Amino acid sequence: MNNVPPGAEMEQAHFRRDAAYDGLFFLGVRTTGIFCRPTCPARKPLPQNIEYFPTARAALVAGYRPCKRCRPLELENQPAWADELLTEVEVDPSLRITDGDLRRRGIDPSTVRRYFLRRYGMTFQAFTRARRLSKVLNQIREKGELDQAVFDSGYSSHSGFRDAFARTFGETPGHVRNRSCVMLSWLSSPLGPLVAGATAEGICLLEFTDRRMLEAELAAVRKLFEAPMVPGSNAHLEKLAIELERYFARASRAFSVPLVYPGTPFQQEVWGQLLTIPYGERRSYEQLAVAVGRPKAVRAVGRANGLNRIAILIPCHRVVNKNGQLGGYGGGLRRKQYLLDLECAAGLEPA
Ligand SMILES: [Zn+2]
Repeated sequence: MNNVPPGAEMEQAHFRRDAAYDGLFFLGVRTTGIFCRPTCPARKPLPQNIEYFPTARAALVAGYRPCKRCRPLELENQPAWADELLTEVEVDPSLRITDGDLRRRGIDPSTVRRYFLRRYGMTFQAFTRARRLSKVLNQIREKGELDQAVFDSGYSSHSGFRDAFARTFGETPGHVRNRSCVMLSWLSSPLGPLVAGATAEGICLLEFTDRRMLEAELAAVRKLFEAPMVPGSNAHLEKLAIELERYFARASRAFSVPLVYPGTPFQQEVWGQLLTIPYGERRSYEQLAVAVGRPKAVRAVGRANGLNRIAILIPCHRVVNKNGQLGGYGGGLRRKQYLLDLECAAGLEPA
């Protein structure tokens, strides 16, 4: 599923610098090797030199560099309508904004749908519902009061709450008090927005949001942890945000936030081994295979490496080809190169 607007629509959007399309597609300029948002203020390239991409990642993988003017990797530049919707949901998660409401405000629901799927891995409606439920869940878990929590959150009845819960999580809230949920936060970084997930035990997910199939990946995590996923934060996510910022500022080399990475014994072995590769160093897939005691299983090791769900913290980017070439990277090779360069530069900046 590519999920980009039709070609003529993208052309028009770019021509008008239509902010409603920001984040929905990117365009590479063949003559300069640079890729932009549809709203880039720079002079328009000739149409025949333009190549369209569904995600920033796709443009990166194709070898384009991000434009310095429109900064296509930055999260802060979201379209004004998205900012407004998110703020409204934050202020009052009990709010219900329907497709009809969106239309009345002059916002195309299919644009909203594409944007939220792309950036948050879920539709706007699913996002709002999950955000609303996350507040209820927290309240129930902290205070153990289902009735009050349901009432406070704007659900008119228990059955309404149960229905909403089941629609979001595919199950009933019967054991909500005792169960864990995966909290999701979106963080910005010099390499573009990241989605982070955490259970009560620790960080279980960190991915670039433009990674192909984010939606499918979130579904896989939900299944793996058998836990509802809700936008929100917890202590681990707050710590992660601080540690990541220090990492990117080269003020710190290590992460101390706890990690949770269930998998097959083999996968866990590989991921555990990745954690032992020191900052600034590299290993080949062959070395990694030897380290886990399966010297012939180079491909399987490579696959497990690629299935790492906690980018950067479980440093799969430190594994490269034997010949020194970068090999693969889920987030695109430019990001892998950036991380290796960041770690390579001698000395740390003063904190
Ligand atoms: Zn640009």
